[in-house]
Amino acid sequence: MGNIAREPDRLVDGKVLIGGELYEKSDRFESLNPATGRPIGSAPLCNREDVALAVEAARTAQPAWAALSIQKRFGYLEVLRNLIREEGDAVASLVTQENGKPLQEAHFVEVHGVLDFMTGLIGKGPSYLKDRSVRPTNPLLWTKRHTIRRVPVGVVGVISPWNLPFAIPMGQILPALAAGNTVVFKPSELTPLVGIKIAGLFRKAGFPPGVFNCITGDRETGAFLVDGAIDGVLFTGSTAAGLSIQERISRRMMVSEMELGGKDAFLLLPDANLERSVNGAVWGGCFGTGQACSSSERFFVPERIAERFVSEVTARVGAMRTGNGMEDDVDMGPLVSEAQRAKVETQVQDAVSRGARVTCGGKRIDGPGFFFEPTVLADVPLDCALMRDETFGPVIPIAAYKTLDEAVAWCNDSPYGLSATIWTSDVENGMRLARRLEAGSVWINDTSYTHGQAQCPWGGVKSSGKGRSHWLGSLHELTTPQLIGVDSGRRARELWWFPYGRSGLDLARNYRMVRSEGVLAKLLHLGPLIRDFLKTRSLR
Ligand code: NAD
Repeated sequence: MGNIAREPDRLVDGKVLIGGELYEKSDRFESLNPATGRPIGSAPLCNREDVALAVEAARTAQPAWAALSIQKRFGYLEVLRNLIREEGDAVASLVTQENGKPLQEAHFVEVHGVLDFMTGLIGKGPSYLKDRSVRPTNPLLWTKRHTIRRVPVGVVGVISPWNLPFAIPMGQILPALAAGNTVVFKPSELTPLVGIKIAGLFRKAGFPPGVFNCITGDRETGAFLVDGAIDGVLFTGSTAAGLSIQERISRRMMVSEMELGGKDAFLLLPDANLERSVNGAVWGGCFGTGQACSSSERFFVPERIAERFVSEVTARVGAMRTGNGMEDDVDMGPLVSEAQRAKVETQVQDAVSRGARVTCGGKRIDGPGFFFEPTVLADVPLDCALMRDETFGPVIPIAAYKTLDEAVAWCNDSPYGLSATIWTSDVENGMRLARRLEAGSVWINDTSYTHGQAQCPWGGVKSSGKGRSHWLGSLHELTTPQLIGVDSGRRARELWWFPYGRSGLDLARNYRMVRSEGVLAKLLHLGPLIRDFLKTRSLR
């Protein structure tokens, strides 16, 4: 395989997993710790040939994997779950070092998120995948048996971002495998070592060779995977990349999930518990350094309490502790890269030049790493980039509204529709409002907490994507229903088969009337129906 050398015996960071074997390459790229800006390792830069080998390995392994009983496949998942429990500390600390989020957050959001998800998947998944019997409504078909089985789509490519480098890919890989597909996974070029750690866990859990494969590389490697001989692509990333992948696969019949960008609205109502709303605004805007797809990015508050809300959020954000996530008592780590920091900085500066008022933060933090101050802005104009484009940074831009209808219109005035939050003491009213918002998820008095819950769908509307992931329903998206209809084969023909003729035609008409709603029609046509039926049978 190109210049990849085989290294079957050890699992060390920096190798990719293809067909159950570990490979390294001389062509590599570095991974940086965003808190220091220094490299912490490197990963193979896989080319088209490497990707093709991984896809081939997955293709070879797929029939035997699909042929295993559901119980056996889920048995492998249980082993993996136990391993993740055991190695949770190692996973969390690698996530912190490669992505930058504080260790506590890496535990809660990534490790616990995945363990929770696996518990839901292992508990309820088998019932989604088992064969089902169905009975058609037409009584003429009642002698037949019908089974619907779920057939895996085949080989699935999973392409992931860096912002939740463990929980996001696992939320797509696990249902794909559970459903009987095999997987080729490409982690983000900014977090390849977490991807390689995932590969190590699968290998250690003893999954059959080729069932799970991991290749590392950049967006070109991702494009090679999309163009490869796969049957489905589960993508999480930017809307621009998602659209380009959609275009690439548009001439192929392929399953796809697109989990794309967001610009989530935070809608405060006058009756909200202000203390909780302020705490929720600060966490929703700044967890993961604001680099979550479901980060609150536009804050709409009633005019008459706007000043108080701004001043309380400013005080809370001002008290946040920024630093290396491996240290204790750090609330917020760095941004993932210099490019990400520059983007946030540009949006903040643009908003200020258009009249927004910085009440806290607003600047990059000098020194090593890609740190940016957690930032609050008030009086932010709705038409600036900070209110329209995805920011992906620790920024809370606030605008005051006069009427609720105006606020709902502002929430919906976005090309994105991933999620939204509503903050109110009147939960019933909140639920009515939620139905007016164009978003895949709406949380009332909380945010983002359903990500690891297998019972809850995750995904967006409009430019935020299509399909739903991280939930049990994706077991249906990742399989196609196959119907098996059975007749005992004892009778010579069916009533609607050849030969056609007058008695068959009368039978069809009378049958229609007997099945109508009216009692009189039923009575009038039942006798002729029986007569036609007997006549037709005599044709046999
Ligand atoms: P990105 O689109 O730059 O990259 C994501 C992944 O896709 C990477 O592995 C990258 O190498 C690969 N890639 C990029 N272009 C590709 C192409 N043309 N063909 C194939 N592969 C390609 O996104 P990112 O910067 O890594 O992640 C941040 C984005 O992800 C944000 O927009 C965020 O909102 C979004 N996101 C969405 C969700 C969700 O659930 N909706 C979750 C997390 C992140």
